[in-house]
Amino acid sequence: MTKSDVLIIGAGPGGYNTAVEAVAEGLSVTLIERGELGGTCLNRGCIPTKCFCRSADAALTLADAAQLGVAPEPVTPSVNMERVVARKDEVVAQLREGIAMLLKGVNVVLGEVRFVDESTVEVNGETYTAPKVIVATGSRPAMLDIPGAEYALTSDRLLSWTDFVPESLIIIGGGVIGIEFASIFAAFGTKVTVIEYCKEILPPFDSEIAKRLRMSLKRRGIDIITGARVTAIDTPEWTVTYECKGKTQSVSAAAVVMAVGRRPVVPDGLDKIVKEWHRGAVVVDDSMKVPGTEGLYAVGDVNGRCMLAHAAEAQGLVALGHTDVNLGVIPSAVFSVPECSMVGMTEEQCRESGLNFKAGKSFMRANGKALAMNEPDGLVKILVDADSRLILGCHVVGAHAADIIQEVATVMSASLTIDAVTASIHAHPTLSEAILAAAKAIS
Ligand code: NAD
Repeated sequence: MTKSDVLIIGAGPGGYNTAVEAVAEGLSVTLIERGELGGTCLNRGCIPTKCFCRSADAALTLADAAQLGVAPEPVTPSVNMERVVARKDEVVAQLREGIAMLLKGVNVVLGEVRFVDESTVEVNGETYTAPKVIVATGSRPAMLDIPGAEYALTSDRLLSWTDFVPESLIIIGGGVIGIEFASIFAAFGTKVTVIEYCKEILPPFDSEIAKRLRMSLKRRGIDIITGARVTAIDTPEWTVTYECKGKTQSVSAAAVVMAVGRRPVVPDGLDKIVKEWHRGAVVVDDSMKVPGTEGLYAVGDVNGRCMLAHAAEAQGLVALGHTDVNLGVIPSAVFSVPECSMVGMTEEQCRESGLNFKAGKSFMRANGKALAMNEPDGLVKILVDADSRLILGCHVVGAHAADIIQEVATVMSASLTIDAVTASIHAHPTLSEAILAAAKAIS
């Protein structure tokens, strides 16, 4: 039996970062992984899609080349999926090597675990135990239980799709994954149709931002059908049937992608130890501990609290006992074209909570850098408590929205007021001035 101070199951961002931190604190750590280091984020999620986004960005820049004065006439990009995927694989391999280096002081075991009890697991016939066990096994794509669901591609499959650029693509689900892939493949020249169940895309986002993004995507030629429930997929024509406004309709394309959420991955035997579950996720308390256990913790997608890589990493620190991590302020971003991002409450949530709030807005078309970049499409909205002047939320759609939201997240995390933003000098010309302008719009 191998004993350690901490046993971590899963080497995604929740698992490997926690392992590195625990070693830095002088603890002995065993990290068990059944697949490859880096988890979904590195191998099938954040990083691979960002590589695809860069290829999409290059295609869009080429298409704009004549307008930017660097080509005599508009250039039609020619996308080589094999090269796109190969470059993505090179980036992933490089980062995977980096993680292996970071894990030098960690006992890394490759294999699939079976839980024996809350502090013991079995892997490859060996037993491992620790007083603190952290489950960080992530999630996998969810599939709708409809006829023909097996014909749909998942995001995992699409990221290794080297065959060709599909002429047309139907994406079921207008959430984060659906909208990112819609943006990417539209830039590659594919005719994309998104079918979303809710009345607006990106349901957790501020509806004004989501609507603005939907209009931008439509202008880019993406068909978006909202308020539609997909009921079947048929082949060989790849026809998706859906119900919308009481009518049954259908649309056909060269391929269908399913992006309707993700489900926690539960290691073998854990179901007999954990008593409380919520929609397939392990219920944890605010210290990430499983209630009723001595030292069993769950971080990241497996606890279903916030399915984001940076949330998993932060939760891992909380599981190690760090008290300075603010899990109440977690920014999130969608790498669409244009990007969008958010932190804190939406305007709808502020209204539903009966808060006395003020909203300040600015438009990217009034931002010098955005115009110089040929990216005039966008909006920043900041929501502030009218009495305390603390920031309740910030929502951005526009170029580099994912990067500029961080300023507001930091101000919120430090419990500073909106005046901290207006009092700070913002470099000119930068997109961050759009944040300053929205802050100044609040009287
Ligand atoms: P999601 O929950 O964001 O979106 C799924 C969408 O599918 C929802 O809008 C839902 O209404 C829709 N849907 C469900 N059933 C449907 C039906 N029958 N017909 C039509 N639409 C239907 O899930 P996702 O996009 O698959 O992403 C999974 C998770 O991964 C999310 O938690 C997301 O935050 C995370 N993720 C994050 C990033 C990022 O931070 N940039 C990127 C990718 C994924």
